[in-house]
Amino acid sequence: MIQRFAYPPIERRHRPLSYDFLAYYRNRPCLKSSNDRTVVHSGPRGGFADCLPVSTRLTMATTARRTSAAERREEVSIVDRKATELADLIRESTNFIAFTGAGISTSAGIPDFRGPEGVWTLRAQGREGDLKAVNTLQAVPTSTHMALVELQNRRILKYLISQNCDGLHRKSGILPDRISELHGNSNRESCKVCDKEYIRDFRAVATYDKSIHDHRTGRKCTRCGGVLLDSIINFGESLPTQPLQDALNHAMKADLCLVLGSSLTVTPADEIPGVVGRNSGAKLVICNLQTTPLDQLADLRVFSDADDLMARVMGKLGVPIPPFILHRRLVVKVESKGDKRHQLTVSGVDVDDTPVTFLHSVKLEGNRRVARSEPFVINIRDKLAAGVVLKLELEFMGHYGEPNLEIDYGVGGEDGSQAWYRLEYNPQTGAWKTSTEKHQVPIGGGDTQWCG
Ligand SMILES: [Zn+2]
Repeated sequence: MIQRFAYPPIERRHRPLSYDFLAYYRNRPCLKSSNDRTVVHSGPRGGFADCLPVSTRLTMATTARRTSAAERREEVSIVDRKATELADLIRESTNFIAFTGAGISTSAGIPDFRGPEGVWTLRAQGREGDLKAVNTLQAVPTSTHMALVELQNRRILKYLISQNCDGLHRKSGILPDRISELHGNSNRESCKVCDKEYIRDFRAVATYDKSIHDHRTGRKCTRCGGVLLDSIINFGESLPTQPLQDALNHAMKADLCLVLGSSLTVTPADEIPGVVGRNSGAKLVICNLQTTPLDQLADLRVFSDADDLMARVMGKLGVPIPPFILHRRLVVKVESKGDKRHQLTVSGVDVDDTPVTFLHSVKLEGNRRVARSEPFVINIRDKLAAGVVLKLELEFMGHYGEPNLEIDYGVGGEDGSQAWYRLEYNPQTGAWKTSTEKHQVPIGGGDTQWCG
C-alpha cells in the first residue's frame, strides 16, 4: 500500500542550529525502499526533527513506484535564463556547496533509482533484467562531474556532498577532504581496527556469500592486519558519522547549495539541503527532472538534465569544463637489504597517501621476476650506485584500456629514498603523461599540485 502525504507550505525561517542534531541523525537508519513498503520515522522531541516541517519528518515514507514520478524538462530558453541566475548566485557566493544524487551519473551509463529506467522502478515492474548499465569502473565521469572538479580546483566550490557510491566523484578529481560520500563508495574499504582506508580499482566488496549487513571484504589491513570492511550503506543502516558531521558543518555555513540529480527521497541524507533551504541567509537551487519534497524551499528550481544546466552555467561563468583525466599517483622506493642486495617496492597511493590499488603487475628491465600482486616488490641482487636508472614497466588493471607505461627511477644517494610520480591518462587520446613530484603532495587548505 502506498501511503501519500500532502506537503503543506513550508515556511522559511532562520533557526539557530545549535542543538545536537548530529546525535539525532546518527541514530537514524538510511531509508531506501526497494519495494512497496512504507517506513515512517519520527525523530526525538526537542531535537532537530522538531524544527523540520511535519511533511519533511513524514517523507521518510519512501516508496518505490511501478510508474516513476513524471520527468519534466523545461524549455531551453527557460533553462538558459535559470543558468544565468545560478551563475550569478555562484559568483556572489562565498560558501558554495553542491549535493549530488544518482541523476548526475545516468549520462555515464549508470542507472538512477527512480527514473523511468531506474533500478527501483524496473524492480517494481519485475523488469530487473532490462537494466542496462556500464560497469561503474569503466564509466567515464560526466561533464557535470568535471564541472564540479573545475569549480573545486578554482576554489569556487567549497564542498561536495554525494549520495552516489559509484566512486565517480573521487575518480574525476574531487579531493578526499572536499567530499562526504554519505552512502559510501563501492571502491573504498577501511580497516575495522585502525580506520586506514584503501581505494581499489575493483569493487571493494566481498567475493563470497554473506549476509547483507556483514561488511567484511575478506581482505586484511596491511598496516595492522585488521579486518577490512566495505563502505556501502545498506537499507536500515546508519550513515557514517564523520562524513555526515562534515556534511552538516558545511551545510550550516553554506550560503549556496546546488542540488543536482537527486529526488531527495533518501533519508536522512536528503535533509542536508533542507538545512541550507531553511537558512534565510542562504540560497537553495535544485536541478532535477522530477519534483522533490524540498521544492518549496528552493530559491531556484530547474527541471533539466544536470549536464545541460552545468554546461550553460560554466559557459556563463567563463570557466571551461575540462576533459576527464585519470589521475594516478605512485611511490617507488629502493631499500638496501645487505651487501649487493636491494628491495624495490612500487605502491599506488592517493593524494593523501591512502593506498590505491590500480596496478596489475610491475616489471623491472633486466630482472626475470614480474611482481604480480600487492605489495609489488622486486629483489635486486646487484650493486646500485647513485645515479643508476632503473626502468620499470607498469601494467594497469586497465578499465579505460590504459596501455602499459614505462617509467624511470633514478637511484638516489640515500638508502630508502622514495620518488613520487604523477601519472595522467587521457582516455580520449589513449596517452599517458608522467611527471615526478619532489615532495609529498599536501592536501587541504593550501595550493596543491593537483590543482592546475
Ligand atoms: Zn588497520
